Parts: sequence; C-alpha cells; structure tokens
Amino acid sequence: MSTVSTESVNIDWEQLSFSLTPVRSMYVATLNAGERWHTGDLQPFGDIPMSPAAGILNYGQGVFEGMKAQRNHAGEIVLFRPDVNARRFARSAQAVCIPPVPDALFLDAVEQVVQDNIDYIPPCDRGSLYIRPLLIGSGGLLGNAPAPSYTFIVFASPVGNYFSNGLAPIALTVCEDYHRSAPKGMGAAKFAGNYAGCYPSTLASKAAGFAMCIYLDAKESRYIEEAGSANIFFVKGDKLVTPPLGCILPGITRDAILTIASEELGLSVEERNIDIDEALTLDECFCTGTAAVITPVGRVQYRESEVVYCNDMVGPVTRRLYDAYRAISLGDVEDTRGWVKTVA
Ligand SMILES: *Cc1c(COP(=O)(O)O)cnc(C)c1O
Repeated sequence: MSTVSTESVNIDWEQLSFSLTPVRSMYVATLNAGERWHTGDLQPFGDIPMSPAAGILNYGQGVFEGMKAQRNHAGEIVLFRPDVNARRFARSAQAVCIPPVPDALFLDAVEQVVQDNIDYIPPCDRGSLYIRPLLIGSGGLLGNAPAPSYTFIVFASPVGNYFSNGLAPIALTVCEDYHRSAPKGMGAAKFAGNYAGCYPSTLASKAAGFAMCIYLDAKESRYIEEAGSANIFFVKGDKLVTPPLGCILPGITRDAILTIASEELGLSVEERNIDIDEALTLDECFCTGTAAVITPVGRVQYRESEVVYCNDMVGPVTRRLYDAYRAISLGDVEDTRGWVKTVA
C-alpha cells in the first residue's frame, strides 16, 4: 500500500475535468480459456501489449464498469455499492461469453488500485477517483469466436466535479435515427459495442447545441429509454417515474435514487413505459450515472416542440434527491443499507 502523501502528487485539483489523468498503477490479471481466474498484480499505469488479432479489437468482445472512490467529510475514502458493480460486471461478461471475474477478486483489485493511488484522490467535494474495470478478449484469433485468453484490468483517473458551479441543467434532444438497444439485445450489459454506435447521434445533437440525446425504444420508437450513458427520470407532483429495466443499462445510481425517493423522500416511484408525448408534460427531468450523479435536464426537444422544465432551473425534487444521494453515498449520514464501503 502506498504511503505517499497528497503533496507528492502534482495535480491542480481545480483544473480537473472528466478527462484521463494517468495515475501510478493499474491492476492486471490474465486468464487462458478453460482456466479459472487467479489473482493479478499492480503494474505501472501504461500501455498493454496485444495481438492485432485480439478478440476485443476484431469482434468487440469486451465489457467494463464505472465506479468512483471519494474522500468524504470525515476524511475517509469510500466506494458506493462496489458489490453491485461486481455483480453487473459478471453479468455483462456472461453476455459476451467471457469467464466472469469472481466478485471477491474484482473487489480486491478495485481496493488495491484505490489504495495504491490514494494520493490521486481529490479532496472532499473537489472530485473523485474514477475507476474503470475492464475485461477484454485479449488473445488473438482469426475466426469469429470467443478469444483464447482474457485480460482483466482496473485503471483509474482523478476527475473533477462534473459541475464546477453546482448543478447546472442541460438540454437534450430526442434521437429518431438510431436505437441504442433492442429487445433481447445487449442494452442491459456494459458492453463495449453499445457505445460507439451512439457517436453519430451524440455528435449531431452536440452540433445542434444539446448535451446528449434521448433514445427511444426500438420496437415502437415511442417510449423513452435512456441517454447514451445515463438513465433518465421524470417527476410529476409527488411521483417519480423512470423507464423499466430490460433494454436500458441497470444503473446503480438509478437503483439508489429509486430507493432514496421512496424511503427517504416519501415519493411514489414508478418503473414503467414513458411515452415521449407524456414526457413533455411532466414537471421535472434529470439523468443519473456514476460520473455526474444527477444531471438536471432543463429542456428537451422533440421534433418541432421543445419543453422547458422548471424554467430551465434545477427542480425542487431533483435538488432534494441530489442532496440526499450525495450525503448517503459519501457516508456523511448513517449508512443504514450497507451501501458505503470504507477502503481507507
Ligand atoms: C454506466 C451506464 C449508466 C449509469 O449506470 P451507473 O451504474 O448509475 O453509473 C447508464 N446508462 C448506460 C448506457 C451506462 O453505460
């Protein structure tokens, strides 16, 4: 474990954004098909050698996770529900025939990376250490089949607060040219192949002045699914509604927000299909995901209409959910659900 103090790492915490800043080390373990996973080790952060015939490079056989380590107000380093990331990582792996990494090995790898790079974790409220577990078919092959060997990597990067001036509403547009996932497809897996296909629609929406786009269901092009890397919620009165699991990525932030909304804020929660026309009549809208936590949505454009939620300001329910989630996920309030894992 590293004993280097924060002073030894030369990072301007104020300048951090959501971009890659190399850290000291990463965890690497490998497995040949037919073997069982065994522990890997920490290596200096850097490039990994790979055959050009690697399964991930040719056939996209790879999955990942996204989580973060934070300093809380008590000065501890905490993870939020890392066991759920471990389970989801295993399910994603099984969806592309990669032997899943056992949960205990996953959790140990994440903790080792956090502890060895502890001085790269920003001060409380200035950002976090974003952690990226990756599992790829790294062995080379020619035919279209599962790779002969796999590599499990955990790397990390300090990132700044998504919003330097607190919560700032974004504008979204509804994508009608592309569906990110389909029934019985891969939408529920954090699978490498789900992301680059969204780039044309994401870039087009950015060029038109929107932060991201909302994808609709593949069958009827009518029901809201999610944004390309975040789940979506709407508020109507004292009701919180969000699309059901199935084609969407089962976000851990999504799950926590549903629980906090009903158990702490007394809201009624509904996981159900939300017609795009209905969405335009609701009171508040926000997106959720590990990186940004909660992103308020101030405007949504759909065809010729544009709806403005809460005068393009942060809605009152969105604000309460954000505050409650922050306090709970940092362990600033009593952790009654066993969600917070203190690693240092
Ligand atoms: C990771 C991800 C999310 C958010 O999941 P969290 O567990 O809350 O970070 C939402 N949608 C997609 C497509 C994702 O990849």
